Amino acid sequence: MSTIVVFVEHADGSVKRASLEALGAARAASNQVIAVLCGDGAKAAAAGANGASKAVVLGGASTSPDAVAQAIAAVATDSNAKAFVASATSSGRDLAPRVAANLESTLLSDCVEFTADGDAFTVKRPWLAGKLIATMRSNAKVACATLRRNAFAPSDADGPGEIVDGADVGAGKATLTGIEAKQGGAIDVAEAPVVVSGGRGMKEPEHFALIEGLAAAFGNAAVGASRAVVDAGWRPHSEQVGQTGKTVAPQLYIAIGISGAIQHLAGMKTSKVIVAINKDAEAPIFKVADYGIVGDAFEIVPALTEEIKRIKAEG
Ligand SMILES: Cc1cc2nc3c(=O)[nH]c(=O)nc-3n(C[C@H](O)[C@H](O)[C@H](O)COP(=O)(O)OP(=O)(O)OC[C@H]3O[C@@H](n4cnc5c(N)ncnc54)[C@H](O)[C@@H]3O)c2cc1C
Repeated sequence: MSTIVVFVEHADGSVKRASLEALGAARAASNQVIAVLCGDGAKAAAAGANGASKAVVLGGASTSPDAVAQAIAAVATDSNAKAFVASATSSGRDLAPRVAANLESTLLSDCVEFTADGDAFTVKRPWLAGKLIATMRSNAKVACATLRRNAFAPSDADGPGEIVDGADVGAGKATLTGIEAKQGGAIDVAEAPVVVSGGRGMKEPEHFALIEGLAAAFGNAAVGASRAVVDAGWRPHSEQVGQTGKTVAPQLYIAIGISGAIQHLAGMKTSKVIVAINKDAEAPIFKVADYGIVGDAFEIVPALTEEIKRIKAEG
């Protein structure tokens, strides 16, 4: 079976869910999976690289993406790996093309399926804002891919068989000099299991309090937004869902006062369950919705929020 190298991201001593999904995808394709971690806390987090046969912890500072990519590519070459995958997170999207370049490969990005047939890897990836699904096969010596978040089950296999120290990451050509945490500590819309999104149908930015209230009632939900309200300055771009915003695929996506333009659908239509609330029964969002409520958001959202709170309170 081919060896697959997985770039594993971590925070606060734990492997991030997106990387557990990448490990799950790799493990489904091969039982020879090498997890590569770097940065502060990597050693502690390595124990959570579920499904990996081995975790390699790179040494040195990990502040240079090109140097990290070089070090990961070296792990892939040294282990005779036939594939490299990373989650299509900001870091993964930054790193994976560099790794691919180091391996003289090409990158298959944002894949929703990843399968192996011996040393041959085939992926599926959405094209044209999700209107088409392309099947692609890598002919490169090392197949390189980023995997869409929430498209693969996170690995729940045991942690790595062994944890080893890898080479030190060099200085590189570019250095990350600082990261600022965004205010509020709200759940990232791309990572939340539940997303409650509002659109222009909310009429005023102040009315987003209703969207926030419903999200808060769930407890694990993030607030999302259409581009119309982001462009209007009602909501930050970090909440925008769609072609020019974030791609989300939560367990539950609730679209409120959002018409369902193709560019919005591109970012959310692979969500597991979609609920649409819109007063226009002909709104395109209903074509992708599993459950549709035709009516006024200003009546429905408060009632829904109260009901969610009641159910939560009953445990
Ligand atoms: C290149 C490009 C990239 C784009 N990228 C994105 C993107 O990433 N994300 C994105 O979202 N859009 C994107 N767009 C914009 C997209 O085409 C739409 O313009 C946008 O999604 C519309 O936002 P909306 O649904 O909030 O507003 P509208 O289309 O105005 O829809 C508002 C909806 O609210 C409903 N409504 C009104 N009042 C109520 C009420 N009281 N209760 C319930 N429903 C009500 C209406 O029936 C309507 O369906 C992009 C466009 C282009 C050209």
